Amino acid sequence: MDQQNSNTEWKYGKRTPGEVLLDVAKSQGLEITDENFAKFLDRNDELANLRKDFFYPKLADSGVEMHDNEDYDESIYFCGMSLGLQTKHTSKLISKVLQNWEVNTINCHSSGYLPAALCDDYVHESMSKIVGAYEDEVVNMNGLTVNLNFLLVSFYQPTPTRHKILLEGKAFPSDHYAIESQIKQRGYDPTKSMRLLKLREGENTWRDEDILKVIEEEGDEIALIMLSGLNYYNGQVFDMEAITRAGHAKGCMVGFDLAHAVGNIELHLHNWDVDFACWCTYKYLNSGPGGIAGAFMHRRHKNNDFPKFLGWWGHSAEDRFEMTNVMNLTPGIQGYRVSNPPPLLVASLRASLDIFDKTSMRQLREKSFLLTGYLEYLLQLYFSKDKSDPYIDIITPSDFSRRGCQLSLVYSCSITEIHEKLEKLGVLCDTRKPNVMRIAPTPMYNSFQDVFRFIQILKRMLTSH
Ligand SMILES: *Cc1c(COP(=O)(O)O)cnc(C)c1O
Repeated sequence: MDQQNSNTEWKYGKRTPGEVLLDVAKSQGLEITDENFAKFLDRNDELANLRKDFFYPKLADSGVEMHDNEDYDESIYFCGMSLGLQTKHTSKLISKVLQNWEVNTINCHSSGYLPAALCDDYVHESMSKIVGAYEDEVVNMNGLTVNLNFLLVSFYQPTPTRHKILLEGKAFPSDHYAIESQIKQRGYDPTKSMRLLKLREGENTWRDEDILKVIEEEGDEIALIMLSGLNYYNGQVFDMEAITRAGHAKGCMVGFDLAHAVGNIELHLHNWDVDFACWCTYKYLNSGPGGIAGAFMHRRHKNNDFPKFLGWWGHSAEDRFEMTNVMNLTPGIQGYRVSNPPPLLVASLRASLDIFDKTSMRQLREKSFLLTGYLEYLLQLYFSKDKSDPYIDIITPSDFSRRGCQLSLVYSCSITEIHEKLEKLGVLCDTRKPNVMRIAPTPMYNSFQDVFRFIQILKRMLTSH
């Protein structure tokens, strides 16, 4: 396992992305606002070739009405935070699974490509590198909210004096509902046991000090701290290491939903001492809609005797088929498997992990620093409140260590209209109620020219508004 921590030896030191980009532009005799600068950055991007491993959407397929620039025939895909692109190998690997079943019938369980009964073993190594864990600390199974519920069964053990779950005030709805239902199921009252972290009046991100203060002051009543690693709405990264430490000092369990963090930022779940985590794989991990989800449990809990919901797949593989009806539980998170794994879904995840294996989260993050930094710099240059009407506010933290690749934008005019116009020009991004547009330049397949074109489109759109 990679023992390095994300906050050590950062390549660009303490400089902001804007400062680094200005230096690079200057050293090349280029203007940061010039298209040639975007082209220069793409030429020097060691990961630029990865885009060719994906079906990057074409303008011709997205029914665009106008071309923004005749030089380009591709759309601008900024929805990686919602659904990653399909790799060029996905359907091939899925076909291999189908063929193994077709030809080897019952024996496809133990032989051929991705032997069905063992198929999840083929993704755990790659997965563990992405989340910073030992291989026996991760598993791929089920869907995200399913895994969240399973883990809450174990990690939420309320008592009359310690029954609260600490979560974001506006957590992703699925997480909110799962937590609410678990509290009710244990006979507690969600209005008393859900401790929602509210934002300060007029602010868009949570302050570390506020989170740590709640843990310090109310920790004795908190059974579980359950936050996202990266909030889907404002794009904020939580300080998972500090929150885990503070929670443990108060005797709380600490878990994270990493749906928007996995494949986006560097994670060190083992070293951060996180108790458990869960994530989906169809966002930055490109496994396709409804892909197989992932979960982590720290080695410390390997032989825990927490309550859990079990099935035959948690039984040790060695004697699972002895059919003794006496559980011999696989230690660790792999003992939480309930059903036999789905090779079709594992194949589509495998296709994407093959691409992750060509690089590293560190390298992706280094590109992300510049790519999202470039977007941020140009947005501020052209559309900040003092320069533009309508204007755009970026509500995602400007501190690189507190964000991933996504920027959440708030417009001073209707975003519905802007979003429709962007779609007509082949820009794929999304909006989230009440008023945010999410733009995720994904380092795996987005280019600096994508960002440049997006800014040109916005310029024309907002100045002729
Ligand atoms: C995307 C996402 C989900 C989706 O849950 P599924 O079970 O995969 O449908 C849940 N929680 C968070 C925080 C998400 O970002």
